[in-house]
Amino acid sequence: MGATAFGYIERQVAFGPRIPGTEAHRRMAGWLDSLLRQRADTVIVQSWNHVTAKGDTLPLKNFIARFNPAAEKRVLLLAHWDSRPVSDSPKSRDPSRPVLGANDGGSGVALLLGVADALKRAPSTIGVDLLFVDGEDYGDFTKTPSDVLIGSRYYGAHQLPGPKPLYAVLFDLVADKDLQLYQEGNSLIGAPEVVNLVWDTAKDLGYAGYFVAAPRHTLIDDHIELQKAGIRAIDVVDFDYPAWHTPDDTIDKVSASSLQVVGDVAMALIRREE
Ligand SMILES: [Zn+2]
Repeated sequence: MGATAFGYIERQVAFGPRIPGTEAHRRMAGWLDSLLRQRADTVIVQSWNHVTAKGDTLPLKNFIARFNPAAEKRVLLLAHWDSRPVSDSPKSRDPSRPVLGANDGGSGVALLLGVADALKRAPSTIGVDLLFVDGEDYGDFTKTPSDVLIGSRYYGAHQLPGPKPLYAVLFDLVADKDLQLYQEGNSLIGAPEVVNLVWDTAKDLGYAGYFVAAPRHTLIDDHIELQKAGIRAIDVVDFDYPAWHTPDDTIDKVSASSLQVVGDVAMALIRREE
């Protein structure tokens, strides 16, 4: 899945920054919609307008690709598909430029699309929902918290009817060439058994060198909004990424082999519940 998923990152960055309200964002939505309809059993699109703290109106969309939608036993995997309008990391050489988001946004989407390909080829006996949330990275995480995590907050308030997933795994920044996935603090607090499940699964696959079974960063990310909505959600994220929120989050920083590692873990999580 690694090489195909890498191609999905190339395709996303070719649209340009996928900033809500832009043509690139609109074109990316069309591409994602058509790819998901070719692969999933059902695709649900949640569309709404979000008014920002500044008063701008953003047209946003969450995509939910459902596999085996009637199954009681389900797993939810998610990623954000928007990219950040400003490169405001302290390490950024030009804060006015948007983030291209090869890793931040691009990698999670590519991974979920790789899972969609695998489930199309070999359907699962359990239900799988792939959730692509919008507006994760639009605003300032401290000054305008209502303008970040917008799509995951919307999903939490508008969950699909039927059984809740056993758990949810968010994939963010998962394609760094130098992949090191430490356990994230809010995941360990909110759903420690899911953290153990994911890191044990990685270890069984021989990936303990990539999935390091130790805590490191504590982050505000989309998993928090799902936890608030009663879902056992965790974040799989490599936050040791120097290009984060800089103009240098580009295709040369990510690799197919990292996507392969995380994709293998995602598929093993699904297969182990069958
Ligand atoms: Zn970001």
